[in-house]
Amino acid sequence: MTLTRQETRSLLLARGPAQAELFEESRKARDRHWGRTAILRGVIELTNVCRVNCDYCPMRRDNISGNDTYFLTGDQIVRMAQAIKDTGIDVVLLQGGETPSVLPLLEEAIPKIRELFDGRVEILLNTGNFKFAQYEKLRKLGATSYILKHETSDPVLHLAIRHETLEKRLACMRDLRTLGFKIGTGLISSLPGQTLDSVIDDIELAGELDASMCSVSPFVPAPNTPMELSPVGDNDLALNIIACLRLSYPHILIPSVSALERVGTGGQSRGLEAGANVMTVNFSSLVDQQRYLIYGKERFVVTLDHVRDIAERSGLTLRGSAFIDDPEDNRIPA
Ligand code: SF4
Repeated sequence: MTLTRQETRSLLLARGPAQAELFEESRKARDRHWGRTAILRGVIELTNVCRVNCDYCPMRRDNISGNDTYFLTGDQIVRMAQAIKDTGIDVVLLQGGETPSVLPLLEEAIPKIRELFDGRVEILLNTGNFKFAQYEKLRKLGATSYILKHETSDPVLHLAIRHETLEKRLACMRDLRTLGFKIGTGLISSLPGQTLDSVIDDIELAGELDASMCSVSPFVPAPNTPMELSPVGDNDLALNIIACLRLSYPHILIPSVSALERVGTGGQSRGLEAGANVMTVNFSSLVDQQRYLIYGKERFVVTLDHVRDIAERSGLTLRGSAFIDDPEDNRIPA
């Protein structure tokens, strides 16, 4: 469905019965395309070290000296992938702070993970900006999809809070597309300084990028960051963005992210209600969960039981990767 900017604007502002109607339509769009299913991913958090200095993130570069930093080893990653496999999940999401130091780890682990799953696995990366040749190597080793969130499509705001250019981020996404990765983007909603118009731009950008995946995270003010005193994000706005994305691009994967739960109890359930169709289970050790400070130590860590519970309550069946049955998607380039 093509929504005009004016239609998107009024849907983003919908509350009460108008919001319920919006969610009903977006669920119908999801169910027509995907059936009553949600895709399950398992995430491994590789490192809490990052060279970037995002003002909203406790793992920002300026915090490295005060944080209890870690890097997983290749063996640890493979053991965690085995734990993911044992639960029947076939999407292994490898994510971490943005640092070239994870490249040797990925290069060691990716072929081993593929071997572990006999090739029937989606290896999804979320490890930030790299050079074309570095992405190419990861693709050749067997990574098939990549999340690189644009966070905000407002170039001025992007530079102000990430200290990196939007242009560079988008160039990396184009590189990933060229290399045959399925790409995912994502935005943070309710960022201080963000306008509704720029949120509409975010929704349009997901289409322009031909993204296969797009996430929406409400802003969470995290301790020990320059934005710790900013107001917490609005879950209703985040949910309405999910619904608008679903109506605009029924075929894309939209996760119901843990930040929704952090901002409001039952938030992830509501994400599914608004049209999301992906849930991610965390496989980090308890020690590393406390060190991966994505929203500070108070983060909500998603377990398999939690996911099963809310999927069941939403009447959704959990399923595997959307990509590995297509030989073209799962091919390793020569
Ligand atoms: S949000 Fe990501 S890129 Fe930014 S500082 Fe945190 S880990 Fe690094």
